[in-house]
Amino acid sequence: MKKIVIVGGVAGGANAATRARRLSEESEIIVFERGEFVSFANCGLPYHIGGEIPERSKLLVHTPQTLRDRFNIDVRVRSEVIRIDPTKKLVAVKELVSGREYEESYDELILSTGAAPLKPAIPGLELNGIFSLRDMNDMDRIISWISSTEIRDAVVVGGGFIGLEMLEQLHHRSLKLTIIESNPQLLTPLDPEMAFPLQEEVREKGITLQLGDGVSEFRGNASVSEVVTRSGKVFPAQLVIFSIGVRPETTLAKAAGLTLGPTGGIRVNERLETSAPGVWAIGDCIETVNGVTQKHGVIPLAGPANRQGRIVADNIFGGDSRYHHTLGTAIVRVFGLTAAVTGANEKLLTANAIPYEVIHLHPNNHAGYYPGASSISLKVIFSPDDGVILGAQAVGKSGVDKRIDVIATAMHGGMTVDDLAELELCYAPPFGSAKDPVNLAGMIGQNVFSGLVEIANPTTALQKFPKAALLDVRDRSERERGFIPNSLHIPLNELRARMAELPKDQELLVYCQSGQRSYNACRILSQNGFKCRNLSGAYRSWSAASGR
Ligand code: FAD
Repeated sequence: MKKIVIVGGVAGGANAATRARRLSEESEIIVFERGEFVSFANCGLPYHIGGEIPERSKLLVHTPQTLRDRFNIDVRVRSEVIRIDPTKKLVAVKELVSGREYEESYDELILSTGAAPLKPAIPGLELNGIFSLRDMNDMDRIISWISSTEIRDAVVVGGGFIGLEMLEQLHHRSLKLTIIESNPQLLTPLDPEMAFPLQEEVREKGITLQLGDGVSEFRGNASVSEVVTRSGKVFPAQLVIFSIGVRPETTLAKAAGLTLGPTGGIRVNERLETSAPGVWAIGDCIETVNGVTQKHGVIPLAGPANRQGRIVADNIFGGDSRYHHTLGTAIVRVFGLTAAVTGANEKLLTANAIPYEVIHLHPNNHAGYYPGASSISLKVIFSPDDGVILGAQAVGKSGVDKRIDVIATAMHGGMTVDDLAELELCYAPPFGSAKDPVNLAGMIGQNVFSGLVEIANPTTALQKFPKAALLDVRDRSERERGFIPNSLHIPLNELRARMAELPKDQELLVYCQSGQRSYNACRILSQNGFKCRNLSGAYRSWSAASGR
């Protein structure tokens, strides 16, 4: 019989507790949670604010009572653990309602203390009407503010996952919206050209998008009325959602002398043991190994926290489960578009000096002849040495989740881009294509690896190959709608007949609309003695990369 104490009763903590109970009926399991609620759906909070999840009670996956009744877990809410003594194996607890303090012993201690919203010292941040969103109370406060105050204008600060979800949900409430992001793009896990369609989507909704500009001041008299940016712009706001990111909640761990990593999370080994014997840590408060760079970092996501809860319970009861790494697989809906990502992006790989090759493609989500097909912009990044997949990003109206999940699974298995061509994926016209976008990415990768075609990254091609002659092989009607400056134009169907018009002594950088016709063109040209390169993702990716 063991006595297990868990600090934090939401994603990681509640999972660890219930798994522990399933493994041991006789153990004593105590969960301390300083908030009022346990096991609530943080990820659902924005959707209740916007009304998509109408019933608040649906967010409460478990209550202290249901955890007690079903799992015999002793849940103590409004109880903050204020100190850990790893030597004596004791925690000090403060009951927040009564103020009473007491000690509780443990055999095994699990820290699942989560993360806290970043709040830099910006003048006026304390004004009424400025909120972060982390828990049920934050959500209730935001809803109550919206219903009790006359709000016309709202500003979301931070264009990450939560900021974008809140933007969408506040749009449901018919507010005049502005989003301010200090980076030059929204959703930085994506590379800039992949974020571009999201930015267009946001603008099309009539939302003011202020990129590359941070907040310098919140102004107002008791309540916020204006947001001032570093560039001097002033946006009216009676409501501000401040969501610029989170930091691991490590106050307790730090005071107890546990080792923290360089990015501020608790350092754990693969078994999720901290530096103190009998103390484990999981979820947003820890550093994990990035599955691509192999460096430690903080990647706060619900999936990893849930799985780590299970692993810790297994290990406490004699197992040897391992948490190997985090890929950062994540998804967000931004109005009519979905964006998803797994693994590393170009920015991260460049920062870590990891060599990579990139392919962009824009296939349909399902057979083009079946009604309702829409395109997915898919980007796959892989190692030029052995083809191992390093990351993928996708944006589109539908089918994005499936493609990124397949690639995340392939990455987990250490597969190469070549393997993607071999995957046997389900297909019928309403769902996909006989050559699924994931297969197509693999086939393009194979073509690159086998030397059948050379490609150029749409973000860097014009700088990297300044002497190349650009060749547009699209139809005339497509060209009329826009083209890359200084490009020659010969539609693909005329190429064989008009090849004499092309310079033989100059490399050709060939593009079409999405990359497929230019690949065909490259095959024709290279077999006729031309040196040519396919612009990956073609005009669509180039336009996005150059912000057009
Ligand atoms: P949490 O679930 O935050 O739980 C930590 C708990 O510890 C808190 O309740 C806190 O009160 C308690 N605590 C801290 N210190 C003490 C103490 N000293 N004593 C007692 N209790 C303490 N992730 C996704 O993957 N997909 C999503 O769509 C998604 N959407 C999100 C939307 C929102 C609005 C938010 C806020 C998060 C979202 N996340 C999402 C992130 C996800 O919720 C977290 O990664 C996950 O909850 C982390 O679990 P955790 O157990 O580490 O921390």
